[in-house]
Amino acid sequence: MEWIFRRFGLRLARRWTIASRTGPGGGPGTDEFPVTLVRLRDAQGVEGFGESAPSSRYAENVDSVERFLGRVDPSRLSFHDLPGSRAYLDSLSPGDFAAKCAIDIALWDGAGRLAGRPVHALLGLGFAEGRHVTSFSIGLDTPEIIQEKVLEAASYPVLKLKLGSLSDRENLAALRAAAPVKPVRVDANEAWKTKEEALQALEWLAADGHIEFVEQPMPANATVADRVWLKERSPLPLMADESYRHAEDLAAVRDSFHAVNVKLVKTGGITGGYAALKAARDAGLKTMLGCMIESSVLIAAAAHLADLTDFLDLDGNLLITNDPFRGPTARAGQLSFADAPAPHGLRVVRGEGAPV
Ligand SMILES: [Mg+2]
Repeated sequence: MEWIFRRFGLRLARRWTIASRTGPGGGPGTDEFPVTLVRLRDAQGVEGFGESAPSSRYAENVDSVERFLGRVDPSRLSFHDLPGSRAYLDSLSPGDFAAKCAIDIALWDGAGRLAGRPVHALLGLGFAEGRHVTSFSIGLDTPEIIQEKVLEAASYPVLKLKLGSLSDRENLAALRAAAPVKPVRVDANEAWKTKEEALQALEWLAADGHIEFVEQPMPANATVADRVWLKERSPLPLMADESYRHAEDLAAVRDSFHAVNVKLVKTGGITGGYAALKAARDAGLKTMLGCMIESSVLIAAAAHLADLTDFLDLDGNLLITNDPFRGPTARAGQLSFADAPAPHGLRVVRGEGAPV
């Protein structure tokens, strides 16, 4: 197997800011989000594409991803032996999940192309066309910009609003001025530091009447007792994101959340994502697939797991202007492979300017 990996800057259509990156009151945010793209190619010329969109929240970045990838011997990877390839990657380090994610996805893509099947079929899953609707995310911003963003997102039937700044009330009011009754998911990104502060915010949000659930109200290191206290009193369902990195975290969240948000860069790819969704479902929790700012490679990879979810938040590629790949579409939020440009594997193809 030979391979290359390249850093690529995804350009955001709108400046992006969330609570955990900036602290209360917001901050400068970012216009460009760096990812690392990977291409594997075997001796027969079969290719597999992968992507890493590391998050500093989990102590990874493109430098650490590339350091890990630099240690990988591609001759130890095979589209014919995914478990063996993953065991080799795990032997290199216990963490580096975002870096391993890129290779895991590329391996599934290549294995699917080799087998002449889409990745979801290799996993024993279907993909229910017409059933999977992604939310569209509105990052922290001034009320005026939030209102503009909500109007721009008019075709999307569900919104996700980032909260956790000093202007939360003004921001939700701005959203409601533009979309009075649209279903909204709220993501606090660990912003409310005590259970009392979190409960007060949840009661305020419940009064809106159209909030579906709230993601990660308190920090991931909040005590179990505080999280259970909050769940018992919360008027809205609570979803674990920063508290649920992979299937091994299930015991820590099953009694203190109603749902989990699974992201491939947290779990180490499609393999870990499948395990994290399955574990949560088997425990009776609702599931969502989420994303970072990502290209169509990572979004497609997650989409193949959509049949294991109750909710989708796969809009990372909708927020950028220079997606280097093409894959599933999301017209009016409806995720679909009907017009996917490739029949097998991830069902993605390179677009203009793809660096790998
Ligand atoms: Mg979140």
